[in-house]
Amino acid sequence: MQSKRYTLFFFMTIAILTLLLAAGTYSPVEAGSKQGNGHGKEQGKGHGGGRHWTYEGETGPAHWGELSPDYAACSKGKRQSPVDIANPVEAELPALKFNYKKSRELAVLNNGHAIQVNASKGNTLKAGKSEFELLQFHFHSPSEHTLNGKHYAMEVHFVHKDGAGNLAVVGAFIEEGKHNAAYDKIWRHMPKEAGKKKILLTSYNTPELLPKNKDYYRYPGSLTTPPCTESVTWLVLKTPIQLSKKQIDEYRAVLNHTNRPVQPLNNRLILEKD
Ligand SMILES: [Zn+2]
Repeated sequence: MQSKRYTLFFFMTIAILTLLLAAGTYSPVEAGSKQGNGHGKEQGKGHGGGRHWTYEGETGPAHWGELSPDYAACSKGKRQSPVDIANPVEAELPALKFNYKKSRELAVLNNGHAIQVNASKGNTLKAGKSEFELLQFHFHSPSEHTLNGKHYAMEVHFVHKDGAGNLAVVGAFIEEGKHNAAYDKIWRHMPKEAGKKKILLTSYNTPELLPKNKDYYRYPGSLTTPPCTESVTWLVLKTPIQLSKKQIDEYRAVLNHTNRPVQPLNNRLILEKD
């Protein structure tokens, strides 16, 4: 009788301890997975992660769809990016309201496909009723989108996400012109080796990375890298950014020919806000 009571007490204690432990570990796991669904995962989605792919040869853009079932949209998708921007249709589109802040930390990463800058929290973009948060921005050389069939020297993509997981990528063309001091700090700390990341506790001015005029083209598209997910609203700014020839050459010395060819528009319209 006595021993039975002790056994019961023993098991109840174990049960209570287990419950307490479960409660204790629950919140960090939850916090961790939330973080994973936000920043980290999307950055991985944009570039890198998953099966190895490249911009040429047997693992190049023409074969992305065959490399993994996860990349099927790259070959089977009907709203893929980039596209040639030609014959846009004028429309009453909302103005883009960028609320980018001065950042105190600079995280520059070479993911093997692009130089990527991971954004700190609190940089937002409003387009009409939708509000997005900036996750990261990265570069392509030459440009991925073309304008009437013509490439620009480079293109920068500012990747944003809203609370429901929808992506809005702001693309800005880069043309050869004046030296652009806003990009100096990023350029100075570009890791030359794939997989390398530099985190600097230095301030840099995120709003100055964008052109002053924010008029844009809009169309429904995809990520331009595997898995080519078709959940992206593309907002391509009409006004290019200028970088000097030296700056463009410096980027190309690290990464060049990092553009996916333009994809069929199919039945999509490109709208134009002016
Ligand atoms: Zn991109």
